[in-house]
Amino acid sequence: MQINRLDWKTTRGEEQYNIARKANLPIVVMEPLRGSLLANLNAEATKILKDYNPDASVASWAFRWLAGLDGILTMLSGMSAPEHLEDNIKTFTNLTPLSEEEQKVYDKAIAAHLKQSAIGCTACRYCECPVGVNIAGLFSLYNQYMYDDRANKNMSFINHYEALKESERADKCIKCGLCKPKCPQQLDIPELLVKVHKAYLEAKGA
Ligand code: SF4
Ligand code: SF4
Repeated sequence: MQINRLDWKTTRGEEQYNIARKANLPIVVMEPLRGSLLANLNAEATKILKDYNPDASVASWAFRWLAGLDGILTMLSGMSAPEHLEDNIKTFTNLTPLSEEEQKVYDKAIAAHLKQSAIGCTACRYCECPVGVNIAGLFSLYNQYMYDDRANKNMSFINHYEALKESERADKCIKCGLCKPKCPQQLDIPELLVKVHKAYLEAKGA
């Protein structure tokens, strides 16, 4: 299953994890670093983590966050350089979950990272949509797509977009405007949803 700190709330990671736990299935985690995004947070987020623990790599926080979940059999981590392997060995030798205090530090760093993304959504979800558009999930997908430099980025974006329920997709916004005043980041949510759907159509070549 694709589980990581970013997808947990935004693309139904928590919901899918709970289904697997209920069925008592051991979980193999793919994308623990969400591509390499969770190993390469922006400068502000990295500073928050390094100020707290200068010796811990940014990636190690993501693995230790996952270590706090029950039922994880293993985590599949793609490593493209010897230093990634060395860092992972360090993290996984006596792997410990994040403490409550570390969890708060990590949440703060993730929020700082999301705030500076292409769409500055922090995934607070105050903007609950009456027709069920998955606002935070869509903005997260779009941000990841914007910073994805892999050759298959279009396919990845399309697959994630189409994995959402029809009712959650950006084109289901009826522009009622109820979400806008609830957003602490003052995002023009309906307009941004148009942009996200346009990006999806363009990725599909439609
Ligand atoms: S404007 Fe769109 S996204 Fe916002 S609450 Fe209305 S339908 Fe939902
Ligand atoms: S309220 Fe704004 S910042 Fe919070 S999830 Fe909704 S769009 Fe994102």
